[in-house]
Amino acid sequence: MTAWDAAVILFGLVIGSFLNVCIHRIPRGESVVRPSSRCPNCNSPVRPWHNIPLLGYLLLRGRCADCKEPISPVYPAVEAMTALLFELAFLKYGWTAPFAIALIFFSLLIVLNFIDLFERLLPDVFTLGGTVIGFLCAPLQSAEFFRDDPFLPDPAAWWLAYLHSGVGILLGGGVLWLVATVYLKVRKIEGMGFGDIKMMCMVGAFLGWRYAWLTILVGSLLGAVIGSLYIYLLGKGRRYELPFGTFLAAGAAVVALWGVRLLESYLKLL
Ligand SMILES: [Zn+2]
Repeated sequence: MTAWDAAVILFGLVIGSFLNVCIHRIPRGESVVRPSSRCPNCNSPVRPWHNIPLLGYLLLRGRCADCKEPISPVYPAVEAMTALLFELAFLKYGWTAPFAIALIFFSLLIVLNFIDLFERLLPDVFTLGGTVIGFLCAPLQSAEFFRDDPFLPDPAAWWLAYLHSGVGILLGGGVLWLVATVYLKVRKIEGMGFGDIKMMCMVGAFLGWRYAWLTILVGSLLGAVIGSLYIYLLGKGRRYELPFGTFLAAGAAVVALWGVRLLESYLKLL
């Protein structure tokens, strides 16, 4: 491991700590800047040295310094997950524009993953905001979009990158919209919310149409396997609402990192 890897991991831990704040405050409409962190149980302010990512949690042995109430393990988990994804992106891209874009994309996915898990919400700030960012950044990662596409002669054409991203938005959101509409007609209950549709627009904007498609496949597969296991193990009813956005976020991260290989093996299956 080089010093650069260590720097990327540290940066990931710090950003992860900020993502925790977003995950817990944005669904409540609170500011992510003020006030400083407080214990959700006794409301006493968190001391700066206990606020250090991962280390703070270990120092406190997972309990509030004042009221000794257990601190949710989600905090260190988000920090560790962010650091891991940042490092994986660094190993894949090195110091390139796609690396910077991957960091933005992974941060959005982590926040959406946990907000949907806890609140069954996918806030527009992240889904629609992310769609705009992904589309605007498309030419910067055109090499990523096209590197395994034998049909496109000129990978550097900026308008092709916009086309790829634009079709990704339409296809990503469109497929889910179609599934949601059919599901509603057939089962008479809402199987998917507009948040999921907007989220797939964002994934399409960042990953292009082919990998948006692959994300839906991987996300649905994860949802089916983990969801049924969860419902079975915890004895939840069939009507238990699964956080589909959580599985889509996990699927999108897998596809962003290993999509090329996955797509190859998927096409071989057909
Ligand atoms: Zn406390």
